[in-house]
Amino acid sequence: MSTMLHTVSKEDNYLFEGKRKRLVEILKTKGISNLKVLDAIAKIPRHWFFESSASRTALLEHAYSDKAMPIGAGQTISQPYTVAFQTEMLNIQPGEKVLEIGTGCGYQTAVLLAMDAKVFSIERQKLLYDKTKILLPNLGYNGARLIFGDGYKGLPRHAPFDKIIVTAAAPYIPNDLLEQLKIGGTMIIPLGEGETQEMVLLKKTTATQFDKKTLGTFRFVPLLPDKAG
Ligand code: SAH
Repeated sequence: MSTMLHTVSKEDNYLFEGKRKRLVEILKTKGISNLKVLDAIAKIPRHWFFESSASRTALLEHAYSDKAMPIGAGQTISQPYTVAFQTEMLNIQPGEKVLEIGTGCGYQTAVLLAMDAKVFSIERQKLLYDKTKILLPNLGYNGARLIFGDGYKGLPRHAPFDKIIVTAAAPYIPNDLLEQLKIGGTMIIPLGEGETQEMVLLKKTTATQFDKKTLGTFRFVPLLPDKAG
């Protein structure tokens, strides 16, 4: 397992900063308006979350384009627009307890931390869990509780959560997650088993009732059952 970060020179840092600013402009034209979300994307070095085997050309071309990219173990880092959209829809307030399903490379986790949320994040693939557990603190993101486990089950020990964000395509809304959402809390989850999914926003209004909104079509890797060593 490599824990090396990409070697980035001072000039590269300026270059990447410029590229991040352009990405923020693209996200604004696509409708993202929450300033804390845009700020987080402007400051988090997305290129550090790419596979460390990525070539310099791949980094320069893709790290700040609005595209999903491979992160190893057959998984992807979500498209920046998708990260920004899901985060904006959750309307995260400082100090809120947020459960993320699908840590992956930790980029979305870093965005949530930059919003001053208390983040709990579950990943089912040991390889990614191990990598991200080292990467996030290396980048200065220390606050998240990362858990190797099955996201379908949530995290009953730390429930209830103010917000739940599912970052893989779910065939149905897991009951455990509904139960672990606070009354008044919100969950965002891409639903569907085909090529694309419907983004669903749920607000828990009573212990057993939910308001449901659908927010358009997105493309995610599937939420798979159980842990994979
Ligand atoms: N949040 C990531 C997105 C990663 S892609 C980002 O910022 O880019 C989705 C992730 O969900 C993958 O890492 C995948 O391994 C993970 N995943 C799939 N099924 C899961 C499950 N049942 N529980 C937890 N994580 C799961």
